[in-house]
Parts: sequence; C-alpha cells; structure tokens
Amino acid sequence: MSVIFSSRPSAVAERDPSTQASHQATMSRIQDLLENGFPLMSFPSDLEEAFQRDALPARERHFLISGLISLLVYNGYLLADWLMIPDMLWLVAQLRLLVFTPVALLSLFLFWRGIHPFHRLLPLSLVDVLTLLGGVGAAASLAIVIPLSESRMIHFYPVGYMVVITYGNVISRLRFWYALTFTFMMLGIFIAGVMSQETFPPRLLWPISSMVISVALFTLCSNYFMERDERRRFLRTLRERSLVRDLTQAHARLKDISRIDTLTGLHNQKHILQHLSLIWERAWRDRSALSLLLIDIDHFKKFNDRYGHTAGDECLQKVARVLQDGLRRPGDVVARLGGEEFLVVLPNTDASFASGVAERLRQAVESLQIRHESSTTARHLTVSVGVVACQAHPDLTVETLMQQAEQALQLAKSEGRNRVYGHTP
Ligand code: GH3
Ligand code: MG
Ligand code: MG
Repeated sequence: MSVIFSSRPSAVAERDPSTQASHQATMSRIQDLLENGFPLMSFPSDLEEAFQRDALPARERHFLISGLISLLVYNGYLLADWLMIPDMLWLVAQLRLLVFTPVALLSLFLFWRGIHPFHRLLPLSLVDVLTLLGGVGAAASLAIVIPLSESRMIHFYPVGYMVVITYGNVISRLRFWYALTFTFMMLGIFIAGVMSQETFPPRLLWPISSMVISVALFTLCSNYFMERDERRRFLRTLRERSLVRDLTQAHARLKDISRIDTLTGLHNQKHILQHLSLIWERAWRDRSALSLLLIDIDHFKKFNDRYGHTAGDECLQKVARVLQDGLRRPGDVVARLGGEEFLVVLPNTDASFASGVAERLRQAVESLQIRHESSTTARHLTVSVGVVACQAHPDLTVETLMQQAEQALQLAKSEGRNRVYGHTP
C-alpha cells in the first residue's frame, strides 16, 4: 500500500477569503433572484452567460428535433392549401417544397454539422436567430399567396399565422425577448397580409384578428412562464450544487480536524499511531529500518505551576514548532501524543542517524532558552528523548517498539534528563 503522508498536517481544507467572499456574494445573488424574481427575464451578465451555456446543448438538440417535426407539419398543410386555395396550389407547393423546405433542411444540416467542431465559437443566440428566421420565412410564404388568390376561402388563410406563432413561442421555445420580437413581426406580417386583400370582408376582420392576437398573447405568456421556470430550475440547481460543495468541504474539514492536535497543530495521537502501523507494514515488507523518538518536556508540571497554564500552552506550541522545523526529510513526522509528550517517526532511519536527529531536536528546544526557574535540570526548558531504532521483522510489533521507546525515555529521565537515550532491540 502506498501512503502519502506529509510531515506537516495538511492545512484545513478551506477556501481562501476572497474566493469565500465571492462565493457568498453569488449565493446571496441567487437567493435574491429566487425570492424577488427576474421580471425582465435576464440575470446579471456572468450568471446569464452561465445559464445560457448550461442550457445550450439541450436547446440545440431541441432545435434540431422540433425543426424537423415542424417542417413535416408545415408541408402537411399542402392538403389545406389544396382544399382552401386550389388556384394557388402550384405556387404554394413550389414555395413549400422547393424553397422553404430545402433552405430549412440545409440550415438544420449545417447547424447539426457545425455544433460539434465549432461548438464554442457559435453565438449563444444562434438557435433563436435561426428559429426566428424560420418562422418569418414560413409566415412570408403565407403572405405571398394571400393577395394573389381569388379563392373565397382565402379570407380564412391568415388563421395559419396562429400555427407559426405557436411554433415560435411554444414549440421551439424561443427565449422570451426573441419570442416577443417574433410575435410582433408575425402580427405585422398578418396585418400587412390582411390589408393587402382589398376584398377582405370587414365582418371577418375582428373574429380572425382576435383569434390571431389571442393566440399570440397566450403563447407569449406560456413562453414567459416556461422560461421563468427554466431559469428558476437553473438557480436552484446552482444553489444545490453549491450546498453539496460546502458540505463536502465541511466534511473534509471535520476529518482533518479529527487528525490534528488543536493546541499545537501537529498530528494527534490517534492519527500518528495509525500512520505508524502503515509505516511499520511498509518497513517490514521492504526490510527497511525504522526509528522512533519519544520526546518529553522535563519538569513540565513545575513549569505550569510556576508560570501558569497559559504560559505552559504557549511553551508547548513553541516546542512543537521547533520539533516540526527540525525535521528535514519529507517522510519524517512529528505528533503530539498528549500532555508534554511528542513522538517522531523516522522511516528508513538507522540508530545512529536517529540519535543524530534526536540530539539536534534536543538542542533546538534548549536553544529556545525558555526560562524555567523551577527546573532542577537547567535554568531553561529542556527535553529528554528516548530513541528506538530497528530493522523491521515479524517478531516485533508497533506496541513493543513504543514500549522500548518509553523505556529509553525513562532511562534518559533517570540519568538526569535533558539527554538522548537510545534502545536497540
Ligand atoms: P518529567 O520531567 O518527569 O517529565 O516531569 P513532568 O512534570 O514533565 O511530567 P508530569 O507527567 O509529572 O507532568 C506533566 C504535566 O504536563 C502535567 C500537566 O500540568 C502538564 N500538561 C499536560 N497537558 C498540558 C496542556 O495541554 N497544557 C499545559 N499547559 N500543560 C499540560
Ligand atoms: Mg515531562
Ligand atoms: Mg510526560
């Protein structure tokens, strides 16, 4: 098993303050939009861009499918043309089958081919622009024949605008502002078509106009509500994604905290013992050496008694820092076992090298020159170190190693403290 273990406890996973602030600002903007709405059907620019990009793949698919279906329906109206304006059937068939359909199919094909290689280059509103042009083309093909036909039924022909409006506003799901523009264009073409018919019966004007206008209004409302719901869904998804990210980070933070000694920031006992087991397994497998240093502050109780518990805590923090800084190889790890005791794990380290490290750490603490007038060992704070070094083999266990380190430490204490004492199993 490969273990990556840094000698310094990993920094608690947190966003840096500026990222955190911008994240919170985005979250409160989202909340604000969800609560107060967005009547003009647009978000602030960065959110708008994200929304449009997020929706793009589905919209592109929808554009292709709805475009093909609508094209079939559009040509199916040839039957209605034959029944209503037989005098114009030839012209209408040409317009539908030879002009509109090939142009629409070519646009759909080019769009389909263009989606993949140039996806990022295509403008976000291309789908809307093409839909709008398609709708205008379909409406224009109606408008062309209306003034030319002499059929009595031609007066009902503008009803076809309702179908085109429904296609643009509901079926193709134009974005609202495009839908609004499209609707006005359709109504303009409709009015122009009606006006161009000198024989249009005035009694029919209102019934047909009211039908076309009400379909325009209803489909526009439906378009508005559909887009509003889609935008809300997007905001909720963003909020949920962000919540999940926050929870994951909080979980990682908790996991990290459970491994760290809160006073010194070093690894705690539970974690170092888990790590030691893994290092032990690896040393055993690789037949490599392993050393432990058990470090204990001398007369620490007296230090607390004399200078107070707060000074004692500060002293533990200084010692922890100096021990941490005294380790030079990436695999070396120091942890606080509890109280004023520290454990250093040195993988791939033999006895003489380990004694050298132990001595260096002892001197590093001494050189802090922390005043300790109650100590019977020196006038300043000192530590005793028990060293155990071994070649890993099956008869040895981590527990035995720890006991031997403890024994070495006790010997260092009984020999007068402020010294390194080694034990070789
Ligand atoms: P020796 O030289 O034999 O090691 O004696 P000692 O006084 O250092 O050892 P002892 O085990 O008698 O006392 C350890 C003291 O460490 C007792 C306690 O007041 C102190 N201590 C343990 N944890 C903390 C802590 O988190 N903060 C502070 N300030 N003191 C602590
Ligand atoms: Mg002590
Ligand atoms: Mg102790």
